[in-house]
Amino acid sequence: MTRIGFIGVGTMGLPMSRNLVKAGFAVTAFDANAEAVTAATAAGMAPAASTAEAAAGADLVVTMLPSSPHVESVYAGDGGVLAAARPGTLCVDMSTIDPAVSRRMAALAAERGLRFIDAPVSGGVPRATDGTLAIMVGGATEDVKEALPALSAMGANVFHVGPVGSGEVVKLCNNLIAGVAAVAVSEAFRIAEGFGVDPRVVTDVIAKSSGHTFLMEHMHPVPGMVERSASSHGYQAGFMTDLMCKDLGLAVDAARNLRIPVFTAPAAQQVYRLASSQGLGRKDFTSVYTLLRPSSEQAPV
Ligand code: NAD
Repeated sequence: MTRIGFIGVGTMGLPMSRNLVKAGFAVTAFDANAEAVTAATAAGMAPAASTAEAAAGADLVVTMLPSSPHVESVYAGDGGVLAAARPGTLCVDMSTIDPAVSRRMAALAAERGLRFIDAPVSGGVPRATDGTLAIMVGGATEDVKEALPALSAMGANVFHVGPVGSGEVVKLCNNLIAGVAAVAVSEAFRIAEGFGVDPRVVTDVIAKSSGHTFLMEHMHPVPGMVERSASSHGYQAGFMTDLMCKDLGLAVDAARNLRIPVFTAPAAQQVYRLASSQGLGRKDFTSVYTLLRPSSEQAPV
C-alpha cells in the first residue's frame, strides 16, 4: 500500500487528505498548527510530530501549504522534506505558488534523488470535500502516472499540462480570472441593489446570459443566493482574501517578468488588499462584496 505523508492539513488539506484515507491510503499528517493535526487524527490519519517524520516513512509526500516561502521552508529548510525523505520518494506539491519556486524545488529534489511535481487545485472546500477538485499537474509523465491514483482520490478532473511548474502557471491564470470575476460580480450586484432590483432575479437572468460565471454559480458574493457559498455562511473561508491577494500578486509578477501589460489583475489585487486592511484577510475572498457599500458623499461627481 502506498504510504502518504501529508503536510499542511488546513482548510483544503484536511478534506483532501480525508479522501485519501477513504480511498484506502495510509496517511501520516503533519501541520504547524497542532489543532489541524488533531483534526487529521480524528479523520483516521496517523499524527506526525514534524515534517521530517511525515516525510521519512512515505512513498509519496503531499504538501498543501499557504504560499511560496512555506513551500521553500518545508522542502529545503532544516529538517525539511528534501533532507528527510528516502531516495526515490515522489513529492507532490498541491499549494498555489510561484512556478519558479516549483522548478527550483524540483531541481533540488533531483539533486537528492527525489522526484517533485506541482499539482495545484481549483474548486474550493466543497469540491475538496467531495473529492471532485480540478487538479492541474506539471511534471514528468512517469511521475504524474505514479501520482494518479492519489490525485484521482482528491479530484474528478486531473490534467497533465506540461513540465514542472506548468500546473502553477495554469492555476495563476485561473485565479486571475476568478479574482477579477468576484470583484466584477460584487460591483454588478451592488448596482442592481442600488436600483432596488431583486438579486435573485438578477442571478437567474445572468445565469442565462453572457455575464454568467462559475464564480456567480458556486461562490456568489451575495448572501442567500447559493446555499453552499461562503457568503451564505458569514463569509467563513472558503478561500481566504489573503490567499487571493497572494495569487493575484503571483499573476501580476509573472506578467511583469514577461513584460505583458495587465490592468484588471492589479486593480483586483488592490481591492483584496483593501479588504485585508479592513479585517477581511481571513474571511472568504467574496467578502469584498461587503466593502462595496455606497459612499455617503453628497457632492455631485
Ligand atoms: P490554510 O492556511 O487553511 O492551510 C495551510 C496549512 O498549512 C495550515 O494548516 C498551516 O498551519 C499549515 N502550515 C503552514 N506552514 C507550515 C509549515 N511550515 N509546516 C507545516 N504546516 C504548515 O490554507 P488553504 O486554504 O488550505 O490553502 C492551501 C493552499 O491551497 C494555498 O496555496 C491556496 O492558495 C490553495 N488553494 C486554496 C483553496 C481554498 O478554497 N481554500 C482553493 C484552491 C487552492
